[in-house]
Amino acid sequence: MESSQVRSGRFFLVRARYESDILAFLTDFAKKHEVTTATFTAIGALKSATLACYDQQKHEYLKHTVDAPREIASCVGNVSTKEGEPFVHAHAVLSDTNGNTNAGHLLEGEVFAAEIHLVELLGEKIERRHDAVTGLSLWDVGA
Ligand code: ZN
Repeated sequence: MESSQVRSGRFFLVRARYESDILAFLTDFAKKHEVTTATFTAIGALKSATLACYDQQKHEYLKHTVDAPREIASCVGNVSTKEGEPFVHAHAVLSDTNGNTNAGHLLEGEVFAAEIHLVELLGEKIERRHDAVTGLSLWDVGA
């Protein structure tokens, strides 16, 4: 499909559980509330994180670990469906005590505190499918 027209459904405000992985928390939350498509933002702090940048030539994520407390200066993402299960895709900008940042595709994030605003989107279900050009699992809309 060319694009997907969606409309807002439920709005959720939730605080992620202390020491949970923020992605696992969001995945479980989506399953529990039967959310198949959503966008979200989060702010707060992580105890540690693993971020990544996708190597567009090698088609693999290059990871870097942030093994110290950081503010979640910004975290944005979406929920769609991959292989029948909710799939959370998130990017984060994390800042240290000097205001320096680490940023990227979020692979893991141990929650110290996180306030999440999630907006459910209703309409056609968005599925992730393997894209041979990029090597990524992308939405089945657009392009
Ligand atoms: Zn990403």
